[in-house]
This record gives sequence, structure tokens and C-alpha cells, in this order.
Amino acid sequence: MTPDAVLRVVATPIGNLGDISARATEELSAADVIACEDTRRTGALLRHLGLERTQMVVVNDHTERGAVARLVDRIERGDRVALVSDAGMPAISDPGWLLVNAVLDAGGEVDVIPGPSAAIVALVASGLPTNRFAFEGFLPRKGAERHARLDELSSERRTTVLYEAPHRLERTLADLAEVCGADRRVAVARELTKRYQQVWRGSLDGAVQWANSSPPRGEIVIVLDGAAPRHEVTDDAICEALELEIAAGSSRRDAVDSVTAGLGVARRRVYRLSLQDADDPDRGLR
Ligand code: SAM
Repeated sequence: MTPDAVLRVVATPIGNLGDISARATEELSAADVIACEDTRRTGALLRHLGLERTQMVVVNDHTERGAVARLVDRIERGDRVALVSDAGMPAISDPGWLLVNAVLDAGGEVDVIPGPSAAIVALVASGLPTNRFAFEGFLPRKGAERHARLDELSSERRTTVLYEAPHRLERTLADLAEVCGADRRVAVARELTKRYQQVWRGSLDGAVQWANSSPPRGEIVIVLDGAAPRHEVTDDAICEALELEIAAGSSRRDAVDSVTAGLGVARRRVYRLSLQDADDPDRGLR
């Protein structure tokens, strides 16, 4: 494939059809074929744009890899192929990544026609810090994998954006409150860009009560504030903790292990301070 064989990845509105961009309309009009998740959803958009005669093919998580290979073939043969998803940016918690990868693997290029993504709209509307953020997509629904991800989230310092289905919202907020603490700030954005757009802002505890008393419908994004930085542990505090351990009869190695775990600081640093202390006649660390 030559680099002038290009897959066009086209973002579409997340609710308000007025958000389709001029470039997106141009690309969809010029396409020989549009790869989409669902022909009914994309068909409605194409009718809105007066493009109902454009060919569509389905490429989603359930289609076989053959569908991807056939599209790569068509791009190679010079067809203009556009990729869309049901809403927003393809490949963001949506199908698309496989096709993007297959085209790049085959030596082609990818041109992204940008547009709305619910994650970014919710992040900005949340009022929470936007300078660094993490995108989690949908959490695993249950089991050890969900526990592990919740655990990771509890200490994540960046603002975190999650997608959630309305019937699982309360459970997820309650799980987040349990691992992050009831006071952690959160915003719940629903039906963004649509008629009943709403952004609820407050604590996780408040969000659980809100979700319980008026179960929200529609499409939902959770934006979670980052974990507060742990307060700084000084060298003196580490030395004091080491001394207490040694005075209680621990070996230096055990004292270092115990202080490292207890204060949540780097073992290297605790070990270095334990050596320093051993050289200091005023300290009892030997
Ligand atoms: N690719 C899409 C994007 O760029 O935002 C996301 C697709 S993902 C399958 C669908 C999820 O995105 C929904 O379950 C919801 O969490 C979120 N979402 C999509 N549209 C939304 C909207 N208008 N308001 C709030 N959340 C939305």
C-alpha cells in the first residue's frame, strides 16, 4: 500500500446533529463506502445529510476480520473509505482501532476528521482539572478485574473520565465512593449536546444519593477528581520511624521494610537514611 492510500476516520455528533462539521460532511459525501457500526444509525445521519445512496458496510466488534481485510483491499485499490461509529469519535470505546491498525500495518495512512467525543465534552463541562486526565472508558462489569481497576483509580492523581450505562450508574458511583472516599468530587454528565443535557456536580456520596433518588436516563459520563497528593514525608519522619522500629528490636532490614510500607515512600530512600543514621553517633540505629 502506498501512503496515498488513506483511511478517513470521521467523527460524528454525540446527540446534536448540528455538530457535524463541514469537513465531516465533505468526507462522507466524497466516500465510495462508509464503514460503520450499525447501518440504521449511520443511515439516519446520511439521510439527514442527503447522502442516503452512499454504500455502507458494517465493521464492528462482532464482524469477522475478513471485513477489515476487504476494506483494506478497497483502500489499496483506490476507493475512498470513510470510517464512522454510531456517535462521536470512532475507536474511542467504539470499533475502529482494528481497521486503523490494519491500514497502518499495510503501509497506508490515516486521516482523522475531528469532532465531538463525549469524554472531552464531559471533562470540560465538569469543572474538574483538565491539565492532566486519564480516560478509563467502561469499567469491567464485575469480578477481580473490576476490583483491580477500582483500586488503581483510587490513587490516580489525574482527573479520570469513565463511560457508564444508566442502569449501572448508582452501583459504579457507590463502588467509587467505597474506594476513593465519600468526599471525592465528581461530575455526572448526561445527554450531552441534547435537549435534556444535565451535569450534576458534587461529592461521590451526594452523587450516589442523587442517582438513587432520581435514576438518570440516557447516556452518561462520570468525571472523577484525582486523588489528593499524599502529604510529603520528611527525612526526619523517616529517621524517627526507623529508630522506633530498631528500638522495638527489629533488624535494620526489617525496619527498612516496615517503614517503607508504613509511610509509602521509596525503599531506596529509607535504606539510604538507615545507613546515614547508622553513622550518626547520636542516633541509635546500628
Ligand atoms: N465514541 C464515542 C465518543 O467518542 O464519545 C463513545 C462511544 S461509547 C460506545 C458510548 C458511551 O459514550 C455512552 O455509553 C456514554 O457513556 C458516552 N456518551 C456518548 N454520547 C453521550 C452523550 N451525548 N452524553 C453523555 N454521554 C455520552
